[in-house]
Amino acid sequence: MKAIEQIYIDGAFVTPHGAERFDLFNPATEEKIGEVRLGDAEDARAAIAAAKRAFPAMRRTSPAERIEMLHALRDAVAAKADALTEAMATEYGAPQSFLAFSVPYAAGVFEMAARTVADYAFTRRIGNTDVIMEPVGVAAAITPWNSDIGFICSKLATAIAAGTSIVIKPSEMSAIQTQAVTEALHAAGLPRGVLNIVNGYGHVVGTALTQSPDIAKISFTGSTATGRTILRAAAETFKRVTLELGGKGPQILLDDADLDQAIPHILTSAFRNSGQACIAGTRLLVPAHRYEEVSSRLAAAVSALKASPSSDPTSDIGPMVSAKQWERVQSYIRLGQEEGATLLAGGEGRPEGQDRGWFVRPTVFTGVTNDMRISREEIFGPVLSVIAYHDEAEAIAIANDTDYGLQSYVLGTDGDRMRRVARELEAGRVVLNEAPMDPRAPFGGFKHSGIGREFGAFGLEAFLEPKAILG
Ligand code: NDP
Repeated sequence: MKAIEQIYIDGAFVTPHGAERFDLFNPATEEKIGEVRLGDAEDARAAIAAAKRAFPAMRRTSPAERIEMLHALRDAVAAKADALTEAMATEYGAPQSFLAFSVPYAAGVFEMAARTVADYAFTRRIGNTDVIMEPVGVAAAITPWNSDIGFICSKLATAIAAGTSIVIKPSEMSAIQTQAVTEALHAAGLPRGVLNIVNGYGHVVGTALTQSPDIAKISFTGSTATGRTILRAAAETFKRVTLELGGKGPQILLDDADLDQAIPHILTSAFRNSGQACIAGTRLLVPAHRYEEVSSRLAAAVSALKASPSSDPTSDIGPMVSAKQWERVQSYIRLGQEEGATLLAGGEGRPEGQDRGWFVRPTVFTGVTNDMRISREEIFGPVLSVIAYHDEAEAIAIANDTDYGLQSYVLGTDGDRMRRVARELEAGRVVLNEAPMDPRAPFGGFKHSGIGREFGAFGLEAFLEPKAILG
């Protein structure tokens, strides 16, 4: 049993004022594996005060000093790769493929931020004016459970790149992962108060951050409903906000697509991070004349997928993070059938061979229309809806007929055609075929998928304010 008794304020691990405890579970076994003592509003205030004290010196750091800090953070995270992987496997249960991606990614975001700082013009001359890009003020980050270590690292990296201090409130469900990454980050030796991490509930610690007049910037990743609450609270003190929210990504399979290549990409995009991903491509749009062919190929490919614990190197899909999330996904699988969609693969209950753990059967619905709730709402589990279209214009219309606009996918063989379709899509990112992730490309959403962008120069500017000195 792991007992996490401390939070991280002003460069030190300290016992929180809050005394409430929260149980931690292994989602692959449903066993309780630990407890975390949660911070409260007073702890949030202490963390904000520490960050506020650290801000004036941080604000004056040169790009070279920030790059040095980012490199130290990169090295500190890389040095703890085994501990981070272990924490993530035990508390989150991600498959080996996601584990193998996540920890190098967490170290890599510091390297990417350092390169962005190196290339960025913090001062420039426009007409008769010097324009100086200054840090916006003390930042806060509120992060979810679906990639705890990655989100903590990427939001910290941007704060350091911009020259500000930060208070981070992670999901309490990820406390073991948070503890492991905080220990790694502590070893980087940042100046006191630049980084503060407070475990606690969203409605307690999160609210204290969003209401504080001493926080100038909120960077949030999580559900659209919580994003809306944060936006409202932030308005009172005119906080700058970056909101990275939900998605219902379309995957447009063009009629010239090569299915041998496309089917694996479709399933990777749909079931990424066990389906617990805002960028998952959960609506597959298929030309009507290829619908039967695509369906039978999908059925065969999905039946070969394995939902099993991290310890199984052949696992494709891990457990849902919690009993609540498992129930939520089950309820959508029931709903799809009630709405008249056809179960092509998967269904309710646990996968064969798994008698415990919050595992879901990878599920594909055919006969889906875009007005069904399974097409419109973010399920956050391995559930794919297949929708027919008759021509390219209809595919684009269906793809855009959603409140969301985070990440879309276009699959085909004609590059010009794919780019033409991509330009019509209302989405912050469009991925063509197997295009690899580009860590410095802007990331964020249109419409209800959020406000602002993360990563690279766009992400950096979301933590900066331009100051014009005329003359
Ligand atoms: P939430 O949006 O509720 O949680 C994300 C973070 O926000 C957590 O740290 C949470 O704290 C915090 N939070 C919650 N309420 C407030 C508040 N009023 N003020 C400030 N911070 C707050 O997501 P859930 O964990 O409840 O997941 C529900 C659904 O959201 C999922 O099923 C999925 O559809 C979507 N989701 C999307 C994510 C994405 O990457 N876009 C990530 C996670 C979820 P606490 O944990 O204490 O509530």
